[in-house]
Amino acid sequence: MKVTEHIKKAKGKTLFSFEIIPPQKGRNIQELYDNIEPLMEFKPPFIDVTTSREEYVYIDKGQGLLDRKITRMRPGTVGICAAIKHKYNVDTIPHVLCGGFTKEETEYLLVDCHYLGIDNVMALRGDAMKHQQYFEAAEGGHTYAAELVHQMSDLNKGKYLHEVVESDYKTNFCIGVAGYPEKHLEAPSLNTDLKRLKEKVDAGANYVVTQMFFDNDKYFEFVEKAKQAGINVPIIPGIKPIAVKRHLQLLPQVFKIDIPETLIHEVEKCKDNHQVRQVGVEWAIKQSQELLKAGVPVLHYYSMGKSDNIKAIASQIF
Ligand code: FAD
Repeated sequence: MKVTEHIKKAKGKTLFSFEIIPPQKGRNIQELYDNIEPLMEFKPPFIDVTTSREEYVYIDKGQGLLDRKITRMRPGTVGICAAIKHKYNVDTIPHVLCGGFTKEETEYLLVDCHYLGIDNVMALRGDAMKHQQYFEAAEGGHTYAAELVHQMSDLNKGKYLHEVVESDYKTNFCIGVAGYPEKHLEAPSLNTDLKRLKEKVDAGANYVVTQMFFDNDKYFEFVEKAKQAGINVPIIPGIKPIAVKRHLQLLPQVFKIDIPETLIHEVEKCKDNHQVRQVGVEWAIKQSQELLKAGVPVLHYYSMGKSDNIKAIASQIF
């Protein structure tokens, strides 16, 4: 079922959902199941599965020589989506990236998703690879997420890249895109970024999931400005509980987001990361309670591999 249909069916009741990261290459899907299992009691109608960007790895060739190869350390997003969907009878949403894929590869991936009964896809550009200063599209790939949304919308109309399909075979994806309450790090201003978001919606995106934020006012202002910009699709808030002290530096550095002074102060007072995890949970509970009161369609949590903190939050909210 589509995310927009889940929201409609809930008739104003806020839904619970979360995002998981595929395990590293060679590891077992059981570790994902172990993390998902404790969250199923909160009845998520859908679960997102991220896609990792490629990165360089160095292979020891012996005699002190290193070979540099490009690889994706956490592949398997679509397969994992299919496995979870089948095991838990829940909708799963693969994150589909521009970065590292040609348009043809994307088309094959989307066709696979359709065969597997996946009704929702999240269209994302992806970040620059670690060694790059700026994002570079793959040769024959998309540069911006809006182009990827166009490709998905075309497929929904039965329009393939190379018009070789003779039937009127169409996909029927509900398309999600990313939004940034504190603007995307590369955007010159929030208004410009909102124009870009509007382009994604105009291209066919059906809902937005936000980047994490720690001050709900940023989300409320963003939703208001988005409405003024003519964006009328659901905007789902993304929430990440702080889990380690290092997040105080890492999150602003990587995502260019602000952390409120009060939260910084609470985290700095902690003696160990166990205490930090508790502070992160308490902050996320307060954020969730306020967002729930405001009637947000879904509370979407970034689980980053471990679910104990999401369970602690969800058990207070749902
Ligand atoms: P875009 O919408 O393409 O925007 C990227 C930048 O380009 C913005 O600054 C925008 O303002 C600008 N822009 C857009 N169009 C134009 C144009 N025509 N001309 C000039 N500038 C333009 N990353 C992963 O690698 N894997 C994931 O699974 C993943 N999941 C995510 C889930 C969510 C909910 C969010 C919020 C982010 C996720 N990301 C993921 C991170 C995302 O890939 C990065 O934030 C990336 O840098 C931007 O992606 P985007 O889809 O927002 O890009």
